[in-house]
Amino acid sequence: MSLTMKLVQLLLRMGLSQLMLYRLGTLRTMTLGLLNPMFMKGLLFELSSGCNRRCWYCPQSLVPKKREVMTLDFLDAVLKKLQLKKWAGTVDIGWNNEPMLDWDSLRMGVRKIREAFPSAFVRMYSNGFGLTQEKLNELMALGLSYFFITLHENDEKRRQLILSWVPAKDQTRIRVTLFQEIAILNASGHAVEGAPPSNEKFCVMQFAPVIRLNGDITLCCCDYYSETVLGNILRDDFWQVWRKSWWQRVRIMFGSKAAKACHACYNMTRTPLRKPAPKQPAATASAA
Ligand code: SF4
Ligand code: SF4
Repeated sequence: MSLTMKLVQLLLRMGLSQLMLYRLGTLRTMTLGLLNPMFMKGLLFELSSGCNRRCWYCPQSLVPKKREVMTLDFLDAVLKKLQLKKWAGTVDIGWNNEPMLDWDSLRMGVRKIREAFPSAFVRMYSNGFGLTQEKLNELMALGLSYFFITLHENDEKRRQLILSWVPAKDQTRIRVTLFQEIAILNASGHAVEGAPPSNEKFCVMQFAPVIRLNGDITLCCCDYYSETVLGNILRDDFWQVWRKSWWQRVRIMFGSKAAKACHACYNMTRTPLRKPAPKQPAATASAA
């Protein structure tokens, strides 16, 4: 466990609320982001793009992405370019997609990511599609630091089943929530009708870029349509690209819509978005 995670757990045990912890994290990111043009708090990998659901609060419901996966050769080439053995940031897998749809490439991808980032906090998001006890154990053994499962169908029975699979040693590393328990964010600023605007004064999401399936480096996890492409990891030098976008990141932090992706984003608009949201259909494939 990284030093940062040990500190986080200690602060939580001492009674610090999640909100206070979040605020401290934002303050840390702002300070480091201002002082160090190379500071990067996280990296998100789009290992695959499809989803079995079409939740009305997600851009997948408006413009579903084709089901594609990053090949392992491609991932190898990307990881070779990054070379971040000592980096202790957060690596996210799965955002606006369902990574469990493509099980074989996912498990190999998690293994490779863990090897490439031995000091990072590797986190995965899933709707629990096809999850079994064996798969859960395998993912944790492969090196996930945290597994966040949201059951969008609000199935309490399935939650209890998944929780019964979690060994005591992993109880702080796996979270299973029902959709009704999470706050609806105006995901990517594109899908949610009448969702509350963000209360955040400062955006720090742009300090965690996304590596897309085609190697494009995009601004943040809210940039669903790749409206702000900073460069391409196979074509460009990642750190040059990152340094070049520093001033843009700082301006966004203080509320400037300095990138196209920010224009409709809940972190900027401060008003509820009124785009038509289709009704949520049933899942297009059922969970095991
Ligand atoms: S399960 Fe997640 S990725 Fe899929 S449509 Fe719902 S919110 Fe979007
Ligand atoms: S304001 Fe811009 S950088 Fe911040 S979350 Fe939205 S799109 Fe991303």
